[in-house]
Amino acid sequence: MSTDTAVKGPLIGEERVVAAATRELIEPSTGKALAVVGLAGEDDVAAAVAAARQALGGKWCRRGTAERSLLLHRLADAVEAEAPALSELEARNVGKPITSVEAEVGAAIRTFRYFASVVGGVGGDAGRPSGSLLHYSLRAPVGVCAQIVPWNYPLMMAAWKLAPALAAGCTTVLKPDPSTPLTALRLGELALEVGFPPGVVNVLPGDGPTIGAALVAHPGVDKVAFTGSTATGGEVMRLASQPIKRISLELGGKSPSLIFADADLDDAIPSAVWSIYTCAGQSCEARSRVLVERAVLDQVLERFAERAGRLVVGDPLARETEVGSLISTAHRDKVHGMVESAVGDGAELLGGGAPAAGPGAFYPPTLLRAEDHSIDAVQREIFGPVAIVIPFEDEADAIRLANDTEYGLMATVWTADMARAHRVAAALDVGTVGLNMPYTSFPGVGFGGTKQSGFGRELSRETLDLYTETRSVLAWTGKRAASPIAP
Ligand code: NAD
Repeated sequence: MSTDTAVKGPLIGEERVVAAATRELIEPSTGKALAVVGLAGEDDVAAAVAAARQALGGKWCRRGTAERSLLLHRLADAVEAEAPALSELEARNVGKPITSVEAEVGAAIRTFRYFASVVGGVGGDAGRPSGSLLHYSLRAPVGVCAQIVPWNYPLMMAAWKLAPALAAGCTTVLKPDPSTPLTALRLGELALEVGFPPGVVNVLPGDGPTIGAALVAHPGVDKVAFTGSTATGGEVMRLASQPIKRISLELGGKSPSLIFADADLDDAIPSAVWSIYTCAGQSCEARSRVLVERAVLDQVLERFAERAGRLVVGDPLARETEVGSLISTAHRDKVHGMVESAVGDGAELLGGGAPAAGPGAFYPPTLLRAEDHSIDAVQREIFGPVAIVIPFEDEADAIRLANDTEYGLMATVWTADMARAHRVAAALDVGTVGLNMPYTSFPGVGFGGTKQSGFGRELSRETLDLYTETRSVLAWTGKRAASPIAP
């Protein structure tokens, strides 16, 4: 292995290795070349897992929670110091508005700080279950983690993965999507610069079906944390089964906004517009189904269309931009195909619906209306700026429709009746419910799905359970009893 500084490629241990292949990254908003990145080969998977395994058995495993906390705070400081450059790089690479990306970089910083602050809780437990029997438990790091993230929130997702793993004392091989690896690669360098031992964080940009799959299947990996599509999540689950690995999956969604007739529409409508069109709809938590009580349907449709039509779509680096480009022209064409199918299935097109001319992968905020909840556009993730409005008759109907997809990531409920809001929250089969508020993730609040949206919760204390094993220790402290449960 030798280093190559000309092209940013895989980071293994403390070395940037010569890449097996290179890929030219395209700025999706302009179609112009952005950078060349080196992609990992199969040998790099083995080398990265070996580096992570070696680091796990080295000095890293003797670092206590206070040292791990300090390093996480230093990593947060380092990201903060580079926040403007990281934000610009991410905005250009993903095509998202700079203001959105700045918020995501801020969220990444807060994620490192959150896990730096709760890492002291990765202790264990103690008690005297019976007589002179003492019990205590130790929380040991689960080991080497394979962490696979998608292209839609590259730095923030990397932080969501790395922070709890490092807090728990694990080592990681992070695999960003090959189209958006730049900020994750920089994060790997920053981890080294702030003092994480070499091999604790390895970063392998590479193709999913080859490098991602080889990483998940590698016998040296103890835990797999995956964020991506439900289809790939199923394949990851299969690959992680021989030998058996711990696994957590954050997958797709088709989340609803539920707007009741008594809602404050001045708040609900712009919030529901934001909930689908931010990130151009390329978010797992996009509230892409807008369920509206029939009594206010016409009013909501008119005001929703008006607000969506006023969104500023354009240059990701312009501060007034509200919606950027899609990730690629190929993805834009797929989104457009799904909109055309929706219209073919009887949905009514009320706004947008035609790809913008020009070199960038732009697609306008699009509004559909349907009565039939079974059509593909309602049931399948479009992953683009496409909202579909469906009317409901009453509370029971709203709950039935909200739960009527294979996904269960989140929902937002808009109503002035808080008793109903809590009733509906309890009845929705999803991981997160927002009551009269559209935001979905805060460090300290568990984030994840039910049903085909995956399992495991990120971003909270319980995430540390995903990255630790509990070891129970038992000892007599006095006279040995015949049986610990003897009276
Ligand atoms: P994807 O499943 O195609 O890819 C995700 C990651 O998996 C990428 O790094 C990819 O290279 C890798 N990958 C692909 N095939 C693989 C394989 N066989 N083995 C191992 N790794 C493989 O998803 P995508 O299109 O990049 O991302 C969009 C999807 O991610 C959407 O469905 C979205 O809802 C979901 N997502 C979920 C969350 C969440 O927290 N629930 C967050 C963001 C995105």
